[in-house]
Amino acid sequence: MPDPNGFLRYDRRLPARRPVPVRIMDWREVYPPAGEELIREQATRCMDCGIPFCHDGCPLGNRIPDWNDLVRTGGWDAAVESLHATNNFPEFTGRLCPAPCEAACVLGLGGQQPVTIKQVEVEIADAAVARGGLRPQPVPAPTGRSVAVVGSGPAGLAAAQQLARAGHAVTVYERDDALGGLLRYGIPDFKLEKRHIDRRLAQLAAEGVRFRTGVNVGVDVTAEELRAEHDAVLLACGALQGRDTPETPGRALRGVHQAMAHLVAANRVVAAAGEGRPALATLPDGTPIDAAGRHVVIIGGGDTAADCLGAAHRQGAAGVHQLDLYPEPPADRDAARDPWPTWPWVLRSYPAHEEGGERVFAVAVQEFVDDGTGQVRAVRIAEVTVEKVDGRRIVTALPGSEREIPADLVLLAIGFEGTEEQPLLAQFGVTRNGRGAVDARPDWQAGADGVFVAGDMHRGASLIVWAIAEGRAAAAAIHAYLGGVGTLPAPVDPARQPLAAR
Ligand SMILES: Cc1cc2nc3c(=O)[nH]c(=O)nc-3n(C[C@H](O)[C@H](O)[C@H](O)COP(=O)(O)OP(=O)(O)OC[C@H]3O[C@@H](n4cnc5c(N)ncnc54)[C@H](O)[C@@H]3O)c2cc1C
Ligand code: SF4
Repeated sequence: MPDPNGFLRYDRRLPARRPVPVRIMDWREVYPPAGEELIREQATRCMDCGIPFCHDGCPLGNRIPDWNDLVRTGGWDAAVESLHATNNFPEFTGRLCPAPCEAACVLGLGGQQPVTIKQVEVEIADAAVARGGLRPQPVPAPTGRSVAVVGSGPAGLAAAQQLARAGHAVTVYERDDALGGLLRYGIPDFKLEKRHIDRRLAQLAAEGVRFRTGVNVGVDVTAEELRAEHDAVLLACGALQGRDTPETPGRALRGVHQAMAHLVAANRVVAAAGEGRPALATLPDGTPIDAAGRHVVIIGGGDTAADCLGAAHRQGAAGVHQLDLYPEPPADRDAARDPWPTWPWVLRSYPAHEEGGERVFAVAVQEFVDDGTGQVRAVRIAEVTVEKVDGRRIVTALPGSEREIPADLVLLAIGFEGTEEQPLLAQFGVTRNGRGAVDARPDWQAGADGVFVAGDMHRGASLIVWAIAEGRAAAAAIHAYLGGVGTLPAPVDPARQPLAAR
């Protein structure tokens, strides 16, 4: 029985972040551990609702009230077990998820602040490590069936772990030099230190998952070869085709990049420094990866933009502007537009925003300005209004509102256009739809028989929690396809969408 007055006795509290002047001197995570006392107090706020809407907010169907109560009563081992029953990698979601479960928490309906579900989650995940490590699960007798997983992001890894635990022989193919997908080189260490990925990979390897890095499927090994070697293939190649703005004058200038080109390179520098090996100092066009002393302009308002902001400050940028096409969102939920328990459109400030920089809303770049040598020196922006007409976005610049912002380095973080066009697609007989994603049938198969798809490659650029949910569901479908005994959990079907007001 939960504490019925917990939320009345305790306010929502999160652990203090590391002080800004200290944390921008390194790349370590921003949040220190919360400590058991605080986390018990916060778990006590959970009402164990009869209909826990937090479940509906989370595509994994995490048993949130159960583990909140276990933490409240000190049942840490049982909490660890309960959390892992629905989520292969709570140490990733607990650190990185924007927490749609919290937006759906019933306390939010009553005018209270939601339970700190995500913080409780990460503390349980870290307790699992502290209380004996991520022990490999015993694996059943081999089924004699084998599966290739292409892509080692959270979707591919979740599927691989589920299938290995069902007794199938699983090989993960990754074209990069290291495993983890966007978790490895997309997301900076100040959000997720890479030891968390390595620890989980060691568990997967001990459970029998084989890894082959540096293998670009479709190029280094053909689809035909992979299909001859394995009974089923899961494509989990992500949605890494960055949106561009080729029509903007000056786009070809030196110093104007896709954000991911800069961010991945910056994260590689950090990884190399940690391992004591040299790293590239410049991008292919000669631009230094280090933003030290430079005026940085980031275009876009999402995760990628915020990660570039944090990286630029750690590199010692002289100044950073972050430009957003849309007006500044309200601080609180507009219930008429986004009623509880849907995901609200509100101003989201990441820890990176505390570290400096200026956010400029409702503006669009009119030109990247040349310094006369082919290098960008400024961006010319105009204030704009944005409206949707027949589903199309119409951006109108306000006359006389133009001005320049100094810029030595411009990072385009304006979204993704689905999975990359690459030889693998035609070889497996799959095509990109209008959104650049790959459609799946209700049994997660795409294209040819025995070829499955999951994660961002299927959904379009999304979230880690969705990637894990889709990886688990696709694994269940593959297990059934291979004639496996029993069923594996399938938290979502391919048509599942986030909670929305109808
Ligand atoms: C900068 C950035 C920050 C983000 N921050 C957050 C966050 O804070 N919270 C959150 O929830 N989500 C965040 N996201 C989104 C999240 O990272 C993705 O939704 C998630 O990683 C998708 O997982 P995935 O497994 O589908 O694909 P990915 O993680 O993209 O992995 C796909 C993998 O497939 C590999 N691959 C592709 N083609 C081939 C091939 N032919 N052969 C072999 N391998 C191949 C790629 O190299 C890659 O490693 C962020 C995204 C970005 C870009
Ligand atoms: S909706 Fe909120 S209060 Fe209710 S069970 Fe979920 S976390 Fe607890």
